[in-house]
Amino acid sequence: MSEPDSQQRIAVVLPDGSELEVDADATVEDCAYEIGPGLGSDTVAGKLDGELVAKEAAVYDGAELEIVTDGSEEYLRVMRHSASHCLAQAVERHYDDVDLAIGPPTDEGFYYDFDNLDVDEEDLADLEREIEEIIAEDYEIEREELSVDEARDRLADEPYKLELLEELADEGQQVTFYKQGEWEDLCAGPHVDSTGEIGVVKLLEIAGAYWRGDEENTMQTRIYGTAFEDESDLEEFVERKEEAEKRDHRRIGNEMDLFSIQDVTGPGLPLYHPAGKTVLKELEDFVESLNQEAGYDYVETPHVFKTDLWHRSGHYENYADDMFIFDVGDDEFGLKPMNCPGHAAIFQDHSWSYRDLPIRYAENGKVYRKEQRGELSGLSRVWAFTIDDGHLFIRPDQIEREVEGIMDMITDVLETFDLEYEMALATRPEKSVGSDEIWDRAEEQLESVLEKRNLDYELEEGDGAFYGPKIDFAFEDAIGRSWDGPTVQLDFNMPQRFDLDYVGEDNEEHEPVMIHRALYGSYERFFMMLIEHYEGNFPLWLAPEQVRVLPISDGNLGYAHRVANEFDGFRVEVDDRDSTLERKIRAAHDDRVPYQIIVGDNEEEDGNISVRDRFEDQEYDVEIEAFRDHLEAEREEKRTEPDFLQ
Ligand SMILES: [Zn+2]
Ligand SMILES: [Zn+2]
Repeated sequence: MSEPDSQQRIAVVLPDGSELEVDADATVEDCAYEIGPGLGSDTVAGKLDGELVAKEAAVYDGAELEIVTDGSEEYLRVMRHSASHCLAQAVERHYDDVDLAIGPPTDEGFYYDFDNLDVDEEDLADLEREIEEIIAEDYEIEREELSVDEARDRLADEPYKLELLEELADEGQQVTFYKQGEWEDLCAGPHVDSTGEIGVVKLLEIAGAYWRGDEENTMQTRIYGTAFEDESDLEEFVERKEEAEKRDHRRIGNEMDLFSIQDVTGPGLPLYHPAGKTVLKELEDFVESLNQEAGYDYVETPHVFKTDLWHRSGHYENYADDMFIFDVGDDEFGLKPMNCPGHAAIFQDHSWSYRDLPIRYAENGKVYRKEQRGELSGLSRVWAFTIDDGHLFIRPDQIEREVEGIMDMITDVLETFDLEYEMALATRPEKSVGSDEIWDRAEEQLESVLEKRNLDYELEEGDGAFYGPKIDFAFEDAIGRSWDGPTVQLDFNMPQRFDLDYVGEDNEEHEPVMIHRALYGSYERFFMMLIEHYEGNFPLWLAPEQVRVLPISDGNLGYAHRVANEFDGFRVEVDDRDSTLERKIRAAHDDRVPYQIIVGDNEEEDGNISVRDRFEDQEYDVEIEAFRDHLEAEREEKRTEPDFLQ
């Protein structure tokens, strides 16, 4: 039998760029069978123009189609979503009157949110066993399409699901349910074919979460879990997670007394304790020395401005929701979310000639951004943070040289901390301000800077900000996690908004180009990253306490203090507690002090010292001067590990 003539044909684009012609009503699965019967039967889901969809979803003409099968990254997401359904099913088997909210997969696993669920960590093992049971039962996971009306009936006693239904579905549209055994859920999918296809599931923790992330709403119970195809992948995940927890900056910050965030002082508002500020101060001094060398001038601006400034800069239109704004008398003020407008205002208060440029301003500027309370966490998400900000006002012909200078500073910083980095150039997006000429010229100069360094970089076409192209850095920490790093951002917009100008060689007024740059970015985030990167074992130059002198007995206390005095200029303490040497060594180790100097009767008689490092290596009969010379060099060169004994 031939196909009816009326059947229309459409074409989808496969990952290799080839086109596949199929019937107009074909699904993802039909396409897979068209490619080959083996692929057809292996199909779990599809990706249409990058979006994960059920294998039952209809394809459309011109769509880029990817078939998702067992073993791919997307497959893991599909399987984890199915695991979240098993979690909800297990919960409803164990607890009555629970209301279901949402249960999506995440990058690390999945979660499901419940209301009216009273559960604690000890119950997770029971739920895990129930999930194993559900997997062993190997229920078929059936997809069903319903009208909105039918769905409404079925969700009569699920208030949150009803709310989603009313919002997501238009009348007359079909919605999908996924059913496994006695349990079902309103869900767009996709899912694996049966619960037996889910590998190993582990429940991780319980947390509170506001319905739809809005703190005005009910606080629900969120259960986090993860799933992998096999046990060894799960074990690897657990190990990595433990490693990350061991390095958690909140715990180490507390142990080392670096900072605190207290209820009484407010959320997301970190307080640096003396030890933490010591590290911070070293970081500030390092950047200050680089800035001074590169010809920056320090400026200072207040934390609060009249909102007229934010109207002028455009922040009021685009950013007001994230700002702290308040009235004083008849005027409206706002805490600054960025330092740039203040610096632009300083530049504007002057008349400049082309010969004066470049002008480079630097400030360790505290900024305030109103993140959602639920998102605040340690130093990683805060309301108040400091940027090692820099703004340059330059002529268009100076872009290349100045960007090169900034890149030198950034790579200097990243290499000082042994961080491996990558770079990306983001170019002109569709919507942008500034002439073609200035964009082309700027992009050319940025490319030339990158080419000159002979380093690989990613070209992210069209990903620049609307006001200028930028170079982004990303780096990797000691346990392979990737972090957003410093940015060099060109800006053709703010000079316009602030009417900035200089008099050119031609005696005409010209608009300067503005560059925003930071070497660390936010001190808070960088500090947090360093704590975790070093696991609190800061390099000598950063360590809050650099050397601790341990007298073996009380009789050596006087000598211990005399030795400590020889290390004037270093952060040195004497452990004068009445305690055994072993305990003192242990305490210094726990406090992550890079070096211990041990002095007993032998050392006192010979006028020398024993040196022990944080790797537990020890050397006797060390001359005080030799060790001090070494410390000076280690600090000066910002070496990352104590290496006197290495
Ligand atoms: Zn679902
Ligand atoms: Zn800026």
